[in-house]
Amino acid sequence: DLRRGARACAVATTCPYCGVGCGVLAEPDGQGGLKIRGDKAHPANAGKLCSKGSALGETVALDDRLLAPQVMGREASWNEALDLVAAKFAASIREHGPDSVAMYVSGQLLTEDYYVANKLMKGYVGTANIDTNSRLCMASSVAGHRRAFGTDTVPGLYADWEEADLVVLVGSNLAWCHPVLYQRLAAAKKARPTLKVVTIDPRRTATSDLADTHLAIAPGGDGALFNGLLARIVAQGAVDSAYVARHVSGLPEAVEAACASDLGMTGLSAEELDAFYRLWIDSEKVVTVYSQGINQSSSGSDKVNAIINCHLATGRIGKPGMGPFSVTGQPNAMGGREVGGLANMLACHLDIEEPAHRDAVQGFWVSPEMPDGPGLKAVDMFRAVEQGRIKALWIISTNPAVSMPEADRVRAAIEGCDFVVVSDITARTDTAELADVLLPATGWGEKDGTVTNSERMISRQRRVLPAPGAARPDWKIICDVAARMGWGEAFDFDGPAAIFREYAALSGVAGALGRDFDISALAEISDAEYEALAPFCWPLSARKSGGRFFADGHFYTKDNRARMLPITPRAPQSQLSEAYPFRFNTGRVRDHWHTMTRTAKSARLSQHMAEPYLELNPTDAADLGIKPAQLVTVESPAGSAILRAMVSERIGRGEVFAPMHWTGQTASAGRIDALVAANTDPVSGQPESKGSAVRIRRFSAA
Ligand code: SF4
Repeated sequence: DLRRGARACAVATTCPYCGVGCGVLAEPDGQGGLKIRGDKAHPANAGKLCSKGSALGETVALDDRLLAPQVMGREASWNEALDLVAAKFAASIREHGPDSVAMYVSGQLLTEDYYVANKLMKGYVGTANIDTNSRLCMASSVAGHRRAFGTDTVPGLYADWEEADLVVLVGSNLAWCHPVLYQRLAAAKKARPTLKVVTIDPRRTATSDLADTHLAIAPGGDGALFNGLLARIVAQGAVDSAYVARHVSGLPEAVEAACASDLGMTGLSAEELDAFYRLWIDSEKVVTVYSQGINQSSSGSDKVNAIINCHLATGRIGKPGMGPFSVTGQPNAMGGREVGGLANMLACHLDIEEPAHRDAVQGFWVSPEMPDGPGLKAVDMFRAVEQGRIKALWIISTNPAVSMPEADRVRAAIEGCDFVVVSDITARTDTAELADVLLPATGWGEKDGTVTNSERMISRQRRVLPAPGAARPDWKIICDVAARMGWGEAFDFDGPAAIFREYAALSGVAGALGRDFDISALAEISDAEYEALAPFCWPLSARKSGGRFFADGHFYTKDNRARMLPITPRAPQSQLSEAYPFRFNTGRVRDHWHTMTRTAKSARLSQHMAEPYLELNPTDAADLGIKPAQLVTVESPAGSAILRAMVSERIGRGEVFAPMHWTGQTASAGRIDALVAANTDPVSGQPESKGSAVRIRRFSAA
């Protein structure tokens, strides 16, 4: 009823799905729903929306919403639920130490939610055991940036793609996963046909339809491909010697490793490699865009650095139309990174391993505790839960029982944990069903805060609809628990604007320590100014070259020089064998998001792909006696799933692909992360979601 009465007035907010960060105008329709339009004033999308964004109004119905706290399966008051959470966490910390508790959060959280979660865990509980599902999405890019630049900084802007002579899309199905950026690129190419696009992906995806060239690289061959490019850059005399001499270290070592690489790992012909290398080197303005195909690898960080090496060697970084560019999967993966949302980072791009940085943050927070090093990254965190080392676990706005690799094992670990709290908008997730305490959180359209998109643009997400039932914003729930644990003064925020002000002020501390992330000019922003805050790209304090970084050669390493790294390419960690002969690739479909808690509500979105499927090559299908649309069983050493066969020339022999979205309590529902081996990148901790070994057979009910 409250929603039916919501005032019909368009509110400028942002889409809660991918990292493009599109502006949305949302207007209550008087029936409890929303009318949705693209926001022409938002720089990321200039009014465009994709299918998911435009269907947002179809996903706000309350039918499956969690409307009140639950304790052990029964409805409870907020006081009872919060008292219990605080008491259980405090008891665990008292009896077993701060590292006996953990928080697993999400790139769906707003920056203000993320900020207080980190402040509570790192500054007050005294553990760095807070990690995020963004670990599964872009941790390798973070690691690559930090190794090369000294900080986790995306050098360029979306506009660079439109100014480039060549856009290389590596491991990115942009057309489905970042559709508005794809639309922008397609429009730029149409307006200027000399703009070349190359896609590099084992699959010929929808994105490849835009490309002048598609390179069907062998799974895991990206490091060798870009090492080969670096070797060719040197051989052709295309190094920007002046830029390297002034601003870069490590070139000789990187080149030596590059020259030793086996280009056979790419699976590409000499002609394909030669044509790609010539095009890359001869195009003055090159943007190399990379996404999950690079990041979700047991050598993802090395692949990121192999790409960055080529841009550093040629000085093609931070200038209009040039640079390496990581696109993030989630709406606020970047905001989470900015407030230390990963177990190995502090807020505002400060390092948890630097004593001076820890002291500065602790001093700013006036906090009693600060961990002296990184906490457990996602895979290790759930291993610690499994081993009983984590005794109290708080999962916020994510569904690890489905989305973590070896998901069956993770589900069992959560089930066996002494005390599990889940904050979410619904009780109907595989993870929520395992909770001892369920806390109803407000969802998109009901909460206020900020998010940061893939080009460092900070935008407001605004409330359009009243909170349903007893649901509360995540920041408020976290602060309420902190207060019950005795830290009320430090968490006495009256709204997200107050949190933003504190976070902006902390960024000034980071700026004083020489870090790039500084939005301290907003530390005194009023509530009204925060409400009206227009999208902006950081840095704010020293805006350089239209918001780009590194063209001036100033990096955030100790000697201010960028680092090129020697990269030794490695194949996916899971070995193919006679028993498991297929390489298992996973990813998204166009019209669903993560584990479908929202997109499944839209009949329109569900029409695109109605059920989970396994894409496989026609020759492999024929060899296995599998016909299109038959059910197949896919098995790995970790688990199994039953999927519908999609026989397609778009995928190579020996490779198969399945979307990650479907959920449920049985393998037959297509819970494909149950199959994924929990192999991780040793630097970033990101799981190799695209390289498991599986076998396939026709499904038999017997
Ligand atoms: Fe939302 Fe991404 Fe689509 Fe934009 S491109 S409308 S941010 S899902």
